Amino acid sequence: MKNFPMFLRMDGRRVVICGSGAEAARKARLILKTEAEIVILGRDLDPELAGLAASGRAVQHEELRPDTFEGAVLAFVATGCEATDAALKAGARKAGAVVNVIDRPEMCDAFTPSIVDRDPVVVAIGTEGTAPVLGRAIRSEVEQMLSPRVGGFAALAGRLRDAVAERVPHHGRRAFWQWAFWGAPFQAHEAGRESAAADMLKAALETGELPESEGHISLVGAGPGARDLLTLRAVRRLQEADVIFYDRLVDPEVLELARRDADRIYVGKEVGQHAWPQQKIDRVIVAEALKGRRVVRLKSGDPSIFGRASEEIAAARAAGIEVEIVPGITAASAAAASIMVPLTERGETDSFAVTTGVCRPGDANPDRSLLARPGTSLAIYMGVEKAAEIQADLIAAGAPAACPVDIVSNASTARERHAAATLGTLAETIRREKLPSPAILFLRHPKSLAAADAQAIRAA
Ligand code: SAH
Repeated sequence: MKNFPMFLRMDGRRVVICGSGAEAARKARLILKTEAEIVILGRDLDPELAGLAASGRAVQHEELRPDTFEGAVLAFVATGCEATDAALKAGARKAGAVVNVIDRPEMCDAFTPSIVDRDPVVVAIGTEGTAPVLGRAIRSEVEQMLSPRVGGFAALAGRLRDAVAERVPHHGRRAFWQWAFWGAPFQAHEAGRESAAADMLKAALETGELPESEGHISLVGAGPGARDLLTLRAVRRLQEADVIFYDRLVDPEVLELARRDADRIYVGKEVGQHAWPQQKIDRVIVAEALKGRRVVRLKSGDPSIFGRASEEIAAARAAGIEVEIVPGITAASAAAASIMVPLTERGETDSFAVTTGVCRPGDANPDRSLLARPGTSLAIYMGVEKAAEIQADLIAAGAPAACPVDIVSNASTARERHAAATLGTLAETIRREKLPSPAILFLRHPKSLAAADAQAIRAA
């Protein structure tokens, strides 16, 4: 590390901004977030700076005065003239200020980071000047991760710190704050119930005991694989979880978003054969929640599509445990996005159906004749091994062999593969191209193809 990050104390201290243009105004905008006294050194101020001076939020020194840098903690120098910058830098340093000269890194004592501001929670990101664009990209990721309310909750915690120190014995403090930040108070605050959050904290301080934490099960959609196709809510649930049960298809990248000390339990469901029988999963997630833990049942794609969610919901309800679904991006959406073929197309495919190649053992196949109608597009899950049978069924039901079918394996991941086929060549294409599971077979029976087919039949 060439630069070491620190937070400068700003309240009641002076920051001098030397310059009158847009760069100076940008720095002023940053410093305005703080409680520092702002002195602007310059004439012919940019309208924003002039406004600050006129409102009294900043003091303008038209020229350098003996007291300009007096008591300054920080000085930004942005006159644009090298000699003037150097002279001002020397003056500011002599007064004990940390100096940042805009666009002259060799003259700087310190650099301004990219900032995510959830005052009093502040995240500063620096790349030591190697990659400002990367710094900004990281900032926007952090922006998305941190709820807009986290600062408000941290401020509330700050106001209660002394009371906690007074009333909660030393050995219990960590547990208190963990409960506050990962448990019910934070969640209430997140949901906009700020007074309820404060009341819970105060009640716990009053009694000196943490309320029994209530277990909770969240069926979370992990999306098709790519980490950035997770929803913000899914990320939050992963970070809150005490224990995560995940499937074979959940990408390891996604699990990295969980809290480090969360338990991760692989339940390894494979299509058709279960490492853990579903009843065992139902039982164990409920048992964990009954201990008061926050359980995430992480499922690929969307939990409500071929995810056996109803069995887990029923098990949770039977045990009186709160349960929710956090929707995710299903594999069909990811496949359609990858090949840039929308799931529906106005005038061609007005219906979109989702079906599976594999049903409960012993059940009859879905009635595929209903799925082959003109104007329908069809996403077939778990269909790779059953491609020949599906192909035969759909053709027998009257779907033209010329219907386009795309096969997309591992959509949205680095292992993604795609082949275009027709209904008539579907099974052979999968065999020839060795397209692996998991894959979506995405078939369209467009109205125009149906019309052309009918015409051909009439002509024959
Ligand atoms: N709940 C999941 C589906 C689970 S069933 C969802 O909404 O996506 C498992 C099937 O999903 C696989 O057999 C395959 O057909 C499909 N699937 C899951 N992930 C996939 C991916 N990344 N690419 C293509 N198909 C996928």
